[in-house]
Amino acid sequence: MSTGRAFKNKRTAFDSFFLHQGEEGLAAFEKGMEQVSNKLKEVYSNTEQPFIGKTPAEIEKEIAGIMNFAGKGRSLQEVLNELEGPILRNSLHISHEKSMAHLHCPPLLPGIIGECIIGTLNQSMDSWDQSTAATYVEEGMVKWLKEAAGYPETSDGVFTSGGTQSNYMGLLLARDSFCQIQWAHNVQKQGLPADFHRLRILCSEEAHFTVKKSASQLGLGEQAVITVKTDERHRMCLNDVLSTLDRLKEDGMLPFALVATCGTTDFGSIDPLPELASISKENGLWFHVDAAFGGGLLLSHSHRNKLEGLENADSMTIDFHKLFLQPVSCGAFMVKDRRHFGFLSHHADYLNPVKDEDDGIVNLVTKSTSTTRRFDALKLYLSLKTVGTETFGNMIDHTIELARYTAEYLTGLENIELKNIHPEINTIIFRYHPSDCSTDLDELNRALQQSLLHEGKGVIAKTTVDGSTFLKLTLLNPRTSEIDIHELMDEIEKTATQLMNGGLARV
Ligand SMILES: *Cc1c(COP(=O)(O)O)cnc(C)c1O
Repeated sequence: MSTGRAFKNKRTAFDSFFLHQGEEGLAAFEKGMEQVSNKLKEVYSNTEQPFIGKTPAEIEKEIAGIMNFAGKGRSLQEVLNELEGPILRNSLHISHEKSMAHLHCPPLLPGIIGECIIGTLNQSMDSWDQSTAATYVEEGMVKWLKEAAGYPETSDGVFTSGGTQSNYMGLLLARDSFCQIQWAHNVQKQGLPADFHRLRILCSEEAHFTVKKSASQLGLGEQAVITVKTDERHRMCLNDVLSTLDRLKEDGMLPFALVATCGTTDFGSIDPLPELASISKENGLWFHVDAAFGGGLLLSHSHRNKLEGLENADSMTIDFHKLFLQPVSCGAFMVKDRRHFGFLSHHADYLNPVKDEDDGIVNLVTKSTSTTRRFDALKLYLSLKTVGTETFGNMIDHTIELARYTAEYLTGLENIELKNIHPEINTIIFRYHPSDCSTDLDELNRALQQSLLHEGKGVIAKTTVDGSTFLKLTLLNPRTSEIDIHELMDEIEKTATQLMNGGLARV
C-alpha cells in the first residue's frame, strides 16, 4: 500500500509540466502564473492604441517567423519574450476604450481569472464523472438564467459555444418537434420526412445569418428561410409576417418556426416579442428568440422592460461573450419545455447509459449537440458574484446611456449622417457625408474605417445599410466615455479631410 508520503516523494521526468501534489509542479505553476501576469501587465501598461496598425501581411510574416517547433523545449519566460511582439502586441486590444467595432466585449477580470480556474480544473461537461461539481454549477447557472428570463419551472437549458450553436439547437428542436406532431415522424431515427422541402422558417431580413446557416445544416436548405420586411425601426413587420404566412400556406408550404431577433447585429433592434409570440401560437409555429445580443438587458436596471415577451419563447439564445462581458466563448441555449431535449439525446454506453439516468445521475451531454464541453459556467458565476448584479446592471446601463449621448452628439455634428437617432441598445450607425463631396461616399467611408484601424486611432466597423457603406460603433465597454467619443469623432473629421484632399491616395 502506498502512503501519501511515498507518493509525494515519487518523481517523474515530467513533473514541472503539470500541476500536482509534488513541489516541482506547484513551483512551476506559481512561477508561470507570475511570469505571464508580469508579461501581460507590461504589455497593457504601455498599450496606447487599440491596434498597432500593421498590415495583415506584416503580421502574418512575423507569426510565420515564430512557428518553429523543432528542437528542445525552452523556458516559458523565453517563449513569452519571443511571442510578446508578434502575438501580444499585434493583437487587437479589445479592452481599449476605442475598440468598438463588433459585438466583441472587453472581458471582465473575474471572467479572465475564471478562465484560469476552468483550464486548471479542465472538467468536461459531458458526463457527471468528468465534471463532478461543475455539472451542478452549470445547472445552477441555468436555473439563475431561467428565473432571470421569467421562464417556467418546466424549462431547461445548457451552455453552448455561442449564438451559432444555440440558434442551431433551437431550429433543430423546432424541426423535430414539428415533424413529430405533423407526421408522427422521428427525424432523429428516420432522417428527414418525404415532405421536408415544404418546411419553412420565418425571420426578419435583419436576422442573423446563422438562421440560414442552421437551415442548411439541418438539411432544409437556405431556401427554407423566408425573410420578412422590417419597419423604420428595423423590427419585424407584423403585417408582413401575417401576409407571408398566408402566402406560404396558399402555396402549400409548411411554416414551422418563427425566429425573432432581440438585438439585431447592426441596429440592436428588438422584434415585437409579445405579438410575435401570439402569432406563433395561433399558427402552430415554434417561437425561437435570438437574444444573443439583447439578452444582456436581463441585467439592466432601466431597460429590462424591452425584453417583455421573451418568456413566451419556445427556445432562446443568450450569449455571455457579448453584453455579459465574458471572455470568448460563453453562451446558453434555453428551452421552455425541457422534454424537447429528448430530440437530442443519445445514450452512449460509455458516457451516459440509461442506467445512470435511472440512478439520478446527471450527464449534460444528453442536452447538447457537443460532447466534450468547457466549464464556461464558472466564469459567469465568478463575474456575477464578484461584480454583483447591481454594478453589472450599472455597467450595461452606462453603455446604453453612452449610445444615447453619442447619437445626440453626432446629430449636432456637421458632415455626419446618423442612421439611428434613437439607438435601441448600444450600437451607432453613421457615415461621413460632407455636403459638397466629390468623392464616392462608399469609398470614402471604407477608407476612413481602414485608415483609423491602420493608424491605430480607433477600431470601428463598417456595414451596409440600404446598399450604402456605413460606419458602426458597438459600445460594449463600460469604461468608454463621452471624451473617447469626442476624440474619435475629431479623428474621423481629420482623417476624412486628409483622405479627400489626398484623393484617397493614402489608403
Ligand atoms: C453574435 C450573434 C450570433 C452568433 O453568435 P456567436 O456567439 O458568434 O456564435 C447570432 N445571433 C445574433 C443576434 C448575434 O448577435
